[in-house]
Amino acid sequence: VIEVSHLYKAYQTPAGPFPVLADVNLQVAQGDYVAIMGPSGSGKSTFMNILGCLDMPSAGSYVLDGYAVATMAADEVARVRNKTIGFVFQGFNLLARSSLLDNVALPLVYAGLGKEERHARASELLKKVGLSKHMQSRPNQISGGQQQRVAIARALVNQPRLILADEPTGNLDSTTSEEIMAIFDGLNQEGITIVLVTHETDIAEHARRQIRFLDGKVVEDTSHQAQSGRVG
Ligand code: ATP
Ligand code: MG
Repeated sequence: VIEVSHLYKAYQTPAGPFPVLADVNLQVAQGDYVAIMGPSGSGKSTFMNILGCLDMPSAGSYVLDGYAVATMAADEVARVRNKTIGFVFQGFNLLARSSLLDNVALPLVYAGLGKEERHARASELLKKVGLSKHMQSRPNQISGGQQQRVAIARALVNQPRLILADEPTGNLDSTTSEEIMAIFDGLNQEGITIVLVTHETDIAEHARRQIRFLDGKVVEDTSHQAQSGRVG
């Protein structure tokens, strides 16, 4: 579902281009469960934003679900992104003044659905993540772990085949983190592809494949070790 080759990214800054990703190559198959690790500043969020079509690479190719998104017009990219990807941001990015129900239903406004259907789907997903009692609450009335579940419900509302999550358990205690990971485990068992960023080894072990970034490059990929027949 993801094919990245020779991907480069430099941010334009007043001091000139600032290179962040250098020659990243990666393939993720439908149904994969991938954890991306690596030190702060190694380019993980930059990479996730490109995978999520929120940012464009400076060079190289990115094929998402068969579409060469790096060469497509912005509105077409948005269409492919909206039907394929659910994005869980670093931090929760919830609307403070809206109810949980409206937060989860928001992406469906852009999909052109009527209010009743939007609310029906959103409440079903809030149920799925264990928040059926809080639908009319606002984000500041619930805990961090509950907010993260709302963010996951929102990412699921367009029925994506791919979930991208940037530090979905950041700032959560270990019990709450395990609850969040149990949701991701279940989604992967349903066949949804998951790529998540984490700093924690325990969290990364939920995935079947671990990738490490260092200075904008992939320096380790456990699926390659398996392919080269490494023992032990
Ligand atoms: P963390 O683990 O702290 O979240 P990260 O691996 O996600 O780190 P990125 O956010 O991808 O790292 O940042 C990689 C580098 O790019 C950093 O040096 C950062 O300062 C820089 N950077 C990120 N966003 C921008 C931007 N919009 N403009 C300029 N530089 C940026
Ligand atoms: Mg980051």
